[in-house]
Amino acid sequence: MNVELFEVLRCPYCGGRLELVTSLFHERQGDDIQHGILGCHCCIFPVVDGIPVLHLQNNATVARDQVQAGQPDLALRTMVGVEDEAQAEAFDAARRSATSTYKETVEALGPNFEGGYFLYRFSDPTYLVAQAIARTVAKTVLPSTSAGDAGPRRAIDICGGSGHLTRSLLDLSTAAPVLADLYFAKSWLARRFTAPGCEPVCCDGNAPMPFARGAFSFAMCTDAFMYIWTKRQFVGEMARLIDNPDAEPGAILIGHTHNERTWTPSHGQPLSPEGYAALFETLPARIFGESQLFTDVVAGGPLDLSRREPNDVLDREQALAIVATTRADVYTRHPLPGDAAVAGEYRLNPLYVVEREGDRTRLRLQFPSEDYADEYGACRQYLPDEVAVHHTALEMLPGDVVPPALDDLAKRRVILKLPRRYY
Ligand SMILES: [Zn+2]
Repeated sequence: MNVELFEVLRCPYCGGRLELVTSLFHERQGDDIQHGILGCHCCIFPVVDGIPVLHLQNNATVARDQVQAGQPDLALRTMVGVEDEAQAEAFDAARRSATSTYKETVEALGPNFEGGYFLYRFSDPTYLVAQAIARTVAKTVLPSTSAGDAGPRRAIDICGGSGHLTRSLLDLSTAAPVLADLYFAKSWLARRFTAPGCEPVCCDGNAPMPFARGAFSFAMCTDAFMYIWTKRQFVGEMARLIDNPDAEPGAILIGHTHNERTWTPSHGQPLSPEGYAALFETLPARIFGESQLFTDVVAGGPLDLSRREPNDVLDREQALAIVATTRADVYTRHPLPGDAAVAGEYRLNPLYVVEREGDRTRLRLQFPSEDYADEYGACRQYLPDEVAVHHTALEMLPGDVVPPALDDLAKRRVILKLPRRYY
């Protein structure tokens, strides 16, 4: 962690500032703290491999004792949650290799770790909507437009997991965006592969958030809110994080949260649309059905945040997005934000298999399983079943820019911008 992060970090329990306890074991490189112990008015917390761990669950207190004993490698194993010696060695080998990929490191952590379809995330329908709305709201509220508002305008991705969306905040947040998550290993992967340059903080979404009032201009939480039990506290905390009377107003986004009135796989403990609305006591909030936003994205824009959907329409939605802000410029129609400024490299979408026929190459859409087709089959609305390209076209991949011959396929998401060393 960079020492600048102390400006926004606070103890989740006493609210006090944190500082490095220099009398205890620590390792620093310039302004970065690799390992050490942070203290406030009430307790001490470890920094493990550059990530502050600001909760008191069992793994955190074990890791804290290991750091204090000068055993940071053991503390890292504890926080990553390796299950046995073989897994610990596989993880160590992956992390020490300069060429290991996200996929290889996830596999080293065992089949129970990431699960699901992370390889295909960057073209799944849920991700497309989440990225479009996150970048749209962030792009509206993060740039500073008044000269008096000189401080950084920072974004935070709460329950950001492995950083797939944090990545799309990197070019918009004027200070390193914070990724907050309880799962240490996921945020560790985010900083290394998916969202290099973010500042991960390991903390508990069911506890007060370990950040100062007004430290952020944009606070978001996507695909996780229905698993939070303390929803009232969580929203109150998000509002506190963007509450800065000396700066231009910010915004809150809760993306992809399930609807109590419809069934979904991995349902969680969702609320009804009016239940969600009632959580916002201090900020005007609007609730959008994600199916309309998806239609906007598939149409190529605009993303219409001016719409107000009637209650009976929202009641039928499987997933909702909630935006809360005092700013009128958010609730308008926005052109779809592109990904040209997002870090990464252009590669073939891994949902496509390559078949060579003479000097033509056929790219055919193939789902990894029937479960994938059931859950994400709506991607057929933008992914073509089959396309043919000249056989030399794919030789330009991976690349930093889209070759002109593949421009159309990039628009259709057959070619994707992925994090470097993703798989
Ligand atoms: Zn404290």
